[in-house]
Amino acid sequence: MADAGPPRFVSTRDERPEPKLYTLDDAVLLGWAPPDEAGGLPGMFVPTAIPTLSKAELQRWRGLSYKEVCFELLSLFRDDESSVITSDELRSLVLDSECKLVPVVSLDSPSSARKIHVAELWHGPTLAFKDLSISIFMKYLDCLCRKQNRKTNLLVATSGDTGSAAIDGVLTTACTHISATVLFPSRAISSVTLEQEWQMVRHAEHPNINVLCCEGTSDDLDVVIERVFADEEFKRRHSLSTVNSVNVLRLIVQAAHYVHVYLSLGLGAEGASFFIPSGGMGHLCSGVIARKLLSGLGTVRLVGCVNENKAFHTLMSEGELRSKGMKLKKTLAPSMDIVVPYNLERMLFFSNDKPKLKLKLKRWKVEGTLELSQHEKSAFGEELGVAAGTTDDAAIKATIRAWSVGFGYTIDPHTAVAAAVAAEVQGSGPAVIVMACAHPLKFRGTVEAALGKPASEWVLEKDKKDQAVRDLLSLDPNSADTLSGTPGLVHFRKSGQEWADDWTQKLRSLLSSTCL
Ligand SMILES: *Cc1c(COP(=O)(O)O)cnc(C)c1O
Repeated sequence: MADAGPPRFVSTRDERPEPKLYTLDDAVLLGWAPPDEAGGLPGMFVPTAIPTLSKAELQRWRGLSYKEVCFELLSLFRDDESSVITSDELRSLVLDSECKLVPVVSLDSPSSARKIHVAELWHGPTLAFKDLSISIFMKYLDCLCRKQNRKTNLLVATSGDTGSAAIDGVLTTACTHISATVLFPSRAISSVTLEQEWQMVRHAEHPNINVLCCEGTSDDLDVVIERVFADEEFKRRHSLSTVNSVNVLRLIVQAAHYVHVYLSLGLGAEGASFFIPSGGMGHLCSGVIARKLLSGLGTVRLVGCVNENKAFHTLMSEGELRSKGMKLKKTLAPSMDIVVPYNLERMLFFSNDKPKLKLKLKRWKVEGTLELSQHEKSAFGEELGVAAGTTDDAAIKATIRAWSVGFGYTIDPHTAVAAAVAAEVQGSGPAVIVMACAHPLKFRGTVEAALGKPASEWVLEKDKKDQAVRDLLSLDPNSADTLSGTPGLVHFRKSGQEWADDWTQKLRSLLSSTCL
């Protein structure tokens, strides 16, 4: 696979023997890959090859900071000739980005001799792991836009974490080339927390930001966003794009989480098992990239941990994934409440069994069912080093309690899904690493209920030094009404059958008047 050509990207939907090649810059600007010839659905960008690194190179990386690893990783997937951004510029934009350190906390397990390592990936402005890759994505996009004298208006539907991370990301750019319009489902009918809402609406008055509170479910928001994006002419005229994990730059930067943690723990041939709270599975897919990069040092196993929206788990256990007619379940880990793990398309593409799996992929898109035989399933799992685990809400609460009592360490409900799956690991073997994707204060109500204690009693002293943590601690739990009246916040209410037409119309006119 690793031919000598410069790093390029292809669409998962391009079936020609010589697929069209894109540079990283193209892929960042486009987000989704253009539809195939037949005018089908858009595809996703994947690198034509994932390099492996020599032991010596990885040894050199051991001495690098998290951000330096991000720079090295991005450099593997681009070249100076094909980019308007030079290597020096790339280095400074990465080092300049808002993302902070990625500490690893090692806890002694009361029940086994083995330690559990927790990678705290939430040290960013909105206390969720999405901050890390979005902050670099924004800087890269900002630099591309400035150099090419173009603008990008990001349109995002969010169940909480992506929206606030995108808003904070835009505010760290020059703010002359990028705007963000964020739609979130009203808390009355969704699992968006007060903390997440506050992080979004606090910037509602900023000229480059639109924040829309919608009286609908996330599925309702998707309907409206899809309608706006389906109008190619409108999309082009207003330079609309997206910031979710469809964007391949985010996928590459997230691979740094795994590489950095593996190297900073000093791990070698013994290998590691990463337990990853998963929804759209962008993070898990980044793990597949990291696994290949690290293969010269040791073996990485990736356990995709899902809540009761467990399509991926069903695929890995029963060999079947249905996306049509599946209903979303509201759980205590709302950022993972996703019916179709859309990054699975990329993972199938990474498999060596590609031609066969591509056929299956086609059927999945058309018929909404993906079936893997026993053999295909285990081949896919072994080749990519991927497995699945699942937990329900009761186990989430029990795990938050068990970790608080056993380790004196508080986790958020998403991390708890991974922690519950990791708890089933017995005996000795590769290092156990739980990816902590959000700070527990972001899901304060759930954690307070699980522990029966107010946040002031369980937020760790070390975390209280963080301004973002202090901000959420001082947020008044009764401020819901004040929040909904925040100046600049737009409300979409449902009135009558025609709400989808009504919202689409309103969103289009809002974008027409506010896009850069
Ligand atoms: C987004 C998110 C996830 C899921 O990440 P995917 O890449 O979509 O699988 C898990 N936990 C938290 C806290 C998140 O914000």
